[in-house]
Amino acid sequence: MSEKKLVSIIIPVHNEALNIAPLHEELTKTLRKLAYDFEIVYVDDGSTDDSSKILYELTAKNINIHVIQFSRNFGKEAAVSAGLHAAKGDAAIIIDADMQMPPSLMKEFIARWEQGAEVVVGVFSARSMQLARRVGAKIFYSIMQTIGHTKITPHATDYRLLDRQVIDTFNDFTERNRITRGLIDWLGFERDYVYFEQAPRLHGKPSYKFSDLIALAVNSLTAYSLVPLRMAGYLGVFILTVTIPLGILLYIERFIMHDPFGWGVSGTFFLAVLILALVGLILACLGLISIYIAHIHTEVIDRPLYVVRRKPKAKDLSTADSTAEEKILEKELDISEGALEG
Ligand code: UDP
Ligand code: MG
Repeated sequence: MSEKKLVSIIIPVHNEALNIAPLHEELTKTLRKLAYDFEIVYVDDGSTDDSSKILYELTAKNINIHVIQFSRNFGKEAAVSAGLHAAKGDAAIIIDADMQMPPSLMKEFIARWEQGAEVVVGVFSARSMQLARRVGAKIFYSIMQTIGHTKITPHATDYRLLDRQVIDTFNDFTERNRITRGLIDWLGFERDYVYFEQAPRLHGKPSYKFSDLIALAVNSLTAYSLVPLRMAGYLGVFILTVTIPLGILLYIERFIMHDPFGWGVSGTFFLAVLILALVGLILACLGLISIYIAHIHTEVIDRPLYVVRRKPKAKDLSTADSTAEEKILEKELDISEGALEG
């Protein structure tokens, strides 16, 4: 067995037949220059083209290449999770199969990891995006920054390196509705960023249509923040605080003081205020319900309560070890005392 560290490369693949060969070539070219052992885990996410055939040909040539084939398309998030579950490396690097992310950057990722980063995130410059996507991303990130509980770096991609410890914690997640990068951001840990210019897709069209991206954005917002749920409630409370005093004021003016200001408030207007107040009440109740749903949501997704980066040293926990260490310590003391006497 070699002493080299093992790095797993995880590649979700969905109909990338034309991209696999160029990617694999570039990847092996990069990896060959690095002093690490590598395993490549391709996750074939229900491709309907020749992707799986091409992948299995690759595995036949090299024992360090693995293919996980899904029974149908489960989506990229599931594919990445499957790859992380299977990864055996001391670290794993996730990369798309479409060559939008330069494999040559892995050298930099690994260098940052060796410097102590536990999560290394690839961040691309927004310049290389279509206008609609760029605007969409901008809105999404600004909403996310204001209401989200987890800090999210704009334009952080799934091109990431994760240390073993992060992979293990990630694999403990049981929630189904998952956005990998959001979960990784939630985990914390020491992070570092590598910036790159995103190349256009080599072949084929992105599987994620604009509508999918909107769905993903809505999913992220609802998975990492409960604020959208509460919005309705706040709106209801706002309506109530406006309509109730207004209704009371109008009532006093009209029926108790008999219209001294000559406002001549009509019955219809009273009705409108009343209806508005009731709508406010309903919305406020919805907000209240949302708080309960939020509690259920937190319980159901069953996130770990906390994530530990470093555990206390073994001697603090196990008595067997501590006695051994204490003996060594005593010996050292003996020596130093002896030295003092002498
Ligand atoms: N992908 C996947 N399952 C899907 C959709 C995409 O495994 O259902 C893979 C795809 O093969 C690629 C990566 O996820 O390796 C990113 O997909 P894409 O380029 O379509 O997304 P974008 O670059 O627009 O984020
Ligand atoms: Mg892509």
